[in-house]
Amino acid sequence: MATEIHISQSNARKITSLNPATGETLRELECADVAQVQAAVVRARAAQGTWFQLGVKRRVGLLREFQARLHASKSQIAAAITREAGKPLAEALVTEVLVVLDATRFLIDNAWHLLREEPLPHGSLATKLKRGRLLREPHGVIGIISPWNYPFSIPATETLAALVAGNAVVLKPSELTPLVALELAELLHASGVPRDVFQVVIGEGPTGAALLNSAIDKLVFTGSVRTGKRIAAAAAERLLPVVLELGGKDPMLVLQDADIDVASSAAVWGAFVNAGQACLSIERCYVHRSLFDSFAAACAAKTKQLRLGNGMDANTDVGPMIHEPQVQIVEAHVEDAKARGARVLVGGRRLPELGANFYAPTVLAEVTHEMRIMREETFGPVLPIMAFDDQEEAVRLANDSEYGLAASVWTRDAKRGERLARRIHAGTVMVNDVISCFGISEAPHGGVKASGIGSTHGRFGLEEMVRLKYLDTDRVPRMKKLWWHAYGESFRRQMEGFLDLQFGRGLMKRLSGALRAAGAVRRKRL
Ligand code: NAD
Repeated sequence: MATEIHISQSNARKITSLNPATGETLRELECADVAQVQAAVVRARAAQGTWFQLGVKRRVGLLREFQARLHASKSQIAAAITREAGKPLAEALVTEVLVVLDATRFLIDNAWHLLREEPLPHGSLATKLKRGRLLREPHGVIGIISPWNYPFSIPATETLAALVAGNAVVLKPSELTPLVALELAELLHASGVPRDVFQVVIGEGPTGAALLNSAIDKLVFTGSVRTGKRIAAAAAERLLPVVLELGGKDPMLVLQDADIDVASSAAVWGAFVNAGQACLSIERCYVHRSLFDSFAAACAAKTKQLRLGNGMDANTDVGPMIHEPQVQIVEAHVEDAKARGARVLVGGRRLPELGANFYAPTVLAEVTHEMRIMREETFGPVLPIMAFDDQEEAVRLANDSEYGLAASVWTRDAKRGERLARRIHAGTVMVNDVISCFGISEAPHGGVKASGIGSTHGRFGLEEMVRLKYLDTDRVPRMKKLWWHAYGESFRRQMEGFLDLQFGRGLMKRLSGALRAAGAVRRKRL
């Protein structure tokens, strides 16, 4: 049984986990209140010391066990994800389970050498007699607040990095997908991670706020820019370090020499994977004017072939959206675009015949940057396509956004694509691929501008889970340092000599500096 926080009063606030495809109630759960969140953090702190003392190798051993258990239960976990988040089973396997298995592989292979003590040799003559080392110490208790769109891979990748580094974790998953988080807890506990070292607190925003305000040592937040800004403001009050993985409005740039068939398939997958509810979704597509008509026609034709339905059916390409408020945002963005002159090539409406949360994958043409669909995060199945005339305009349009999570450039000329990629303001730019960067366990994941602060995944995600401590040991403890009191004119001259010895131009200058500095060794110090 996973660690859950229950409150006994009958008036405890409850959340209901629903299947977004069918509306069926999966389970009711009670929300953790402030006292319960605080108590979870106290338990986590008490357990963290022993967890850290286990050492990286033993913790890596538990990760191996976790990986084996996850692999063995891959279909069961994928089904739990599909039931609660709606995405097709194949996506649950590839974009969630596979991502976590591989992130675990990365930590198993690399945690030991990335976390080990590092010698820090000194370059300066003044400090040659000292031995420096860099230690990577866990923060203590890491709070993780996660969203519903990747309810397994997001909290799991963050949690595994935090745990292997020796932290305890208290996770507040999205109120829309609590059951997947409890599956994660069950797997971790069965693998040998102590219950107090990884805990889940269930609830809505107030439970997240309680975690933020508790005695955690760092917070890793993934969610919307709106909530992220509130988190950052509250964290600033107490100088709590935070990682913020926030929204995106990722551009796709299709250059004149792109392969239309490949790029249009990428656009359709990138816009409609997880019903467009991915932070890395293609939300803006810019196509060279010479390709526009054929590219848009190819996208429309491929979109028409998508099979919509319950993600539990293996033939489903696109499942439902998560819930009504998200459908309303998509509807509002599409209606705004239509009212301002956008042309709907396919879709553009709800699909009540399939269920309350289904919205037709939609391709829009004649869109402009005055429309909400090109400025605000839509987070739904819409592919707006806009023409550009030259490369400069493409870069300007791509960068004309408050977001900077990821981007992609499509061209047959990889060098040209890379040159353009360097000019795009984003945490990641892919040339001839989209979204898969999230599954590249070595790559840092994180955005610039409003898309966030800091990284998760890979080496840099692991670095976020530790604080650096510089350890310095003097090799000649019985010697008073040359730069200590008492000063005087001859000492000033000796130090000038010392600076010349190290930084003077030419051998003569250095030698003369050495002669003047030599007296400092014999100088009487207090
Ligand atoms: P959200 O901001 O509404 O909620 C995220 C989490 O924050 C939830 O667990 C929620 O309960 C909690 N929360 C809400 N109010 C809070 C408060 N005041 N204090 C503390 N916690 C609070 O986001 P969402 O709708 O769950 O997720 C969708 C958003 O997440 C999109 O904007 C998407 O782009 C973004 N996202 C970003 C990444 C990334 O890696 N950059 C990944 C996935 C999703």
